[in-house]
Amino acid sequence: MNPTDRQGATIQLDAVRKQFGDTVALHDITLSAAPGSLVVLLGPSGCGKSTLLRVLAGLEEATGGVVRLGGRDVTGLPPAARGISMVFQSYALFPHLNVAENILFGLRARKVARVERDSRLAGTAAMMGLTPLLERRPGQLSGGQQQRVALARAIVAEAPVCLMDEPLSNLDAKLRAEMRHEIRSLQQRLGLTMVYVTHDQVEAMSMADQVVLMRDGRVEQDATPAELYARPATAFAAGFIGTPPMSLLRLEAAPGGACIAGAPEHAVAPAEAAGALLGLRPEDVAPTDDPGLPATVNSAEFLGAETVLRCAVGSEMVQARIPGHHVMTPGSPIRLRLPPPAHLFDPATGRRLP
Ligand code: ATP
Repeated sequence: MNPTDRQGATIQLDAVRKQFGDTVALHDITLSAAPGSLVVLLGPSGCGKSTLLRVLAGLEEATGGVVRLGGRDVTGLPPAARGISMVFQSYALFPHLNVAENILFGLRARKVARVERDSRLAGTAAMMGLTPLLERRPGQLSGGQQQRVALARAIVAEAPVCLMDEPLSNLDAKLRAEMRHEIRSLQQRLGLTMVYVTHDQVEAMSMADQVVLMRDGRVEQDATPAELYARPATAFAAGFIGTPPMSLLRLEAAPGGACIAGAPEHAVAPAEAAGALLGLRPEDVAPTDDPGLPATVNSAEFLGAETVLRCAVGSEMVQARIPGHHVMTPGSPIRLRLPPPAHLFDPATGRRLP
């Protein structure tokens, strides 16, 4: 297979709606993906990620709206006519077929000529490190190898769009990290347009060109990972991204400005911020010897390279992520240095305040 032969297709969704009876799973979703890009659909359980992917695939019929792949309206077309390949959480390999037969299953069904099949198999197997395993049955493979076979089966189809629904969720953490790197480099090498569903924000941030963060059947934010991190559009986005995510603290009026609720001695933002939610990235908060914000250590969690502190300030909880190993007794006093107030949100609408 010659990677330069491959080219991803543009994806465009225009006001795509999906209802299951009275349940609106997708509220008029509009978005687009550039050819050769990896778009992650991210969000909590039940937000509609899988439904959106299934509508893209043609496995679910949209209640309204238009799906275009490569500029072509595919809204009414069945999956096989859309130019897509798919990988699901369950690898769905045939246990009685060997690896080679599993990879080629779709091509046989589509009556691709034998010479062409053999050459695609050889190329894909070599690329995926599966050449020595072609004679084995799925039952004789590790979980990671089985997932690689499922990927190979999608790749060999040479479709311009590849759809993946939580493909790594059955793997352990180490293998997951390896596979996400493998999928990303494969997608880039082949120039595929990929839509990848996950609820894991680390997976999303590390793989995506574009993250579509969903909530309750709507797009909460559609941005690059860097934008999503630097400028979350809503308190929900702020609280979803980051390890750990932003602390969101209620601000009150205090002498000389706005303070964290219940801690009126220290203004941390200008007076007009009173009533807003202040978002603080734990990596921007640090203990200090200077007169900083007085707080009380609630817990210290050692993660190897760093320690995550949870500290009570007034009636709120501030997290700090600091390099190294720090042993701190719960209940001990601490002083914190906060960054300038860069992220403020309206508590009623959740929207970012300018
Ligand atoms: P998860 O991460 O748990 O898979 P998700 O974000 O993929 O969640 P969906 O599976 O797309 O969410 O579900 C979105 C909403 O649509 C949910 O409220 C779900 O209950 C509903 N839903 C999905 N499929 C059906 C169906 N076949 N019939 C009725 N309701 C459905």
